[in-house]
Amino acid sequence: MRYVSTRGQAPVLNFEQAMLSGLARDGGLYLPETIPAFDGLDQLDGLSYEEVAFRVIRPFTGDSFTDAELRGAIDRAYERIAHDARAPLVQLAPGHHLLELFHGPTLAFKDFAMQLIAQLFQIALTRSGQRVTIVGATSGDTGSAAIEAFRGIDNVDVFIMYPHGRVSEVQRRQMTTPPAANVHALAVTGHFDDCQARLKDLFNDHAFRDTVGLAGVNSINWARVVAQIVYYFTATASLGMRPTDFCVPTGNFGDIFAGSIARRMGLPIRRLIVATNQNDILHRALSMGEYRTGEVEPSISPSMDIQVSSNFERALYLAYDGDAGAIRQLMDELKTGGFAISQGALQALRAEFASGRVSEQETLETIRTARAFTGEILCPHSAVGVAVAQRHLEPGVPMVTLATAHPAKFPDAVERAIGLRPALPPHMADLFDLPERMTRLENDAEALKSLILDRRTQ
Ligand SMILES: *Cc1c(COP(=O)(O)O)cnc(C)c1O
Repeated sequence: MRYVSTRGQAPVLNFEQAMLSGLARDGGLYLPETIPAFDGLDQLDGLSYEEVAFRVIRPFTGDSFTDAELRGAIDRAYERIAHDARAPLVQLAPGHHLLELFHGPTLAFKDFAMQLIAQLFQIALTRSGQRVTIVGATSGDTGSAAIEAFRGIDNVDVFIMYPHGRVSEVQRRQMTTPPAANVHALAVTGHFDDCQARLKDLFNDHAFRDTVGLAGVNSINWARVVAQIVYYFTATASLGMRPTDFCVPTGNFGDIFAGSIARRMGLPIRRLIVATNQNDILHRALSMGEYRTGEVEPSISPSMDIQVSSNFERALYLAYDGDAGAIRQLMDELKTGGFAISQGALQALRAEFASGRVSEQETLETIRTARAFTGEILCPHSAVGVAVAQRHLEPGVPMVTLATAHPAKFPDAVERAIGLRPALPPHMADLFDLPERMTRLENDAEALKSLILDRRTQ
């Protein structure tokens, strides 16, 4: 299994190398040269999540890990998800199901990918004796999932940038309270997009990159996408392996892109529906054919408050039939504000993806009505998904909305909607009592580099 960059000018890598490097050296994102067809769709019903994960992930890892290593990593990763089904499917209304992805240690779907890649990093680095420095940018949930997954993992230092004052208190505390010496939370002056831009600066500085063994675990890391393919399979298997629509609260396009890969492997997904909040670059791109950045407008679903959706580059690459030159040109145009998607590529995207945008008011109203009519308390991101899904329900086609976080992670928004604050699950009950530890940082690449050189384990 070989991995190529969407911009066509970086070395071809194997799975382990693509996982350890994150972003390609030409600024592109890695994708498998060919997407493997899945063999045995009719044999998944009733299997454990871990077994399905092994069967889905195995074809992507090539010879990077033995079967025993991969199975061990999967078992250790998912034993920390506090639900026997790992990703349980609950019914919201006739034909409408909610895929609960929030039973992991930091209460968001990102645990599914991060817990697994931490185990895979551990195996790969122990084998090679190499050290790496993981640097990440987060709108809240990636950072907490990364710090939680990598705290105490050997041969890894972790630095996570988050936008100061723009993450929820639960998200912040999940990043600032782990005492492990190898993890560092950095509060950056600016927005998530600033953090993401500084991260790209680091990756584009090849000398720095090599000095510290820079590795990325943002949602652009291919290994994360792979881990997220699994729950599309378990959900579709639970529904009898028939054509199913999925609605996905979307920011960086990682979670929904995993659905697109599942579809290309042969899973009977009919449509993938992108649900956005008022930061709707993806909805505008798919409905009008223009991918144009605007100003980030902070919302009550902060993990989707972005204007550059990194993984969309992968969908574009596939929609442009693997024309890396075309992607390089689009990404150049993006530096000056945006680009028009070609008619052919737009048609290909629309054959696969639908989209919708939800206002703050509708999000609150959806939390209220879901609670009133089903008893389910939705986090604001999941509510954005449910609201868009409701517009796309069709008789005879099951709809699955991904519930991306636990409501207790966003108690202020939930309280505004239904007048009560959801309780944290028991395993996190002491979060508000633990001491916090963070470093304030200006939105500046040089300051970031010197901090990393100073703090990392030599
Ligand atoms: C990260 C996140 C999203 C967006 O997922 P992408 O893969 O970036 O599209 C949605 N909801 C929650 C709760 C998240 O943490």
